Amino acid sequence: MRFDIITIFPDFFREAFDFGIIRRARLAGLVEVAAHDLRRWTFDKHRQVDDRPFGGGVGLVLKPEPIFAAVENLTGASERSLFEKGTRVVLLSPQGRVLTQAVAQELATEAEHIVLICGRYEGVDERVAEALVTDEISIGDYVLTGGEPAAIVVVDAVTRLIPGALGSETSAVNESFSDGLLDYPHYTRPPEFRGMRVPEVLASGNHQEIARWRTERALEKTQRNRPDLLK
Ligand code: SAM
Repeated sequence: MRFDIITIFPDFFREAFDFGIIRRARLAGLVEVAAHDLRRWTFDKHRQVDDRPFGGGVGLVLKPEPIFAAVENLTGASERSLFEKGTRVVLLSPQGRVLTQAVAQELATEAEHIVLICGRYEGVDERVAEALVTDEISIGDYVLTGGEPAAIVVVDAVTRLIPGALGSETSAVNESFSDGLLDYPHYTRPPEFRGMRVPEVLASGNHQEIARWRTERALEKTQRNRPDLLK
């Protein structure tokens, strides 16, 4: 899987993918990640990437020409219908469909090359969404100052679902959202900490009882924190 990130702040990503599982996946050749300066695709004297909005209003909007040129250069095609199978061009936007584990799984399964476009200011000229991108993705119902943190979230969530990226293939199977529930509670040593004891069943060695306890706790936690998942 290859990720190409288009941004006006490539330094934002300098060490973002140099830790833990993502670093290991990169070193193992499972993923490649590159951040590209949008200004590389500007051809005017001032290397302008933004301009004032038509219709008036505050702020600036990222211009379409450098973004189209960047995507054309990185994918070999300048419009959606011409992308190779397995190419996804993603605009990070609070107006996109929300990134869930299912969306991350869809990208991990179907995509081989993901181009991520990071907006800034008031956003990106709408012609990018109209003609260029295959997906508009939001990482949640809040507004960030730019798409860069969202790009890191997408790379992370998708990479760990690529077969071989996690140490054990089962780790992604037994976690939150994989079966519609939140994960069950985890404990480690010491068995007692500040008067709080690890539930006895976990030390019982009775795997059936442990499995039952975990399902019950997962249901309880989902009911408490995310009742919408149980609908
Ligand atoms: N005017 C836009 C709106 O109200 O929908 C917000 C623009 S925001 C200040 C600037 C950029 O940050 C966006 O173009 C997008 O790339 C990124 N961004 C902000 N919130 C985001 C979110 N929840 N998910 C993904 N990207 C986001």
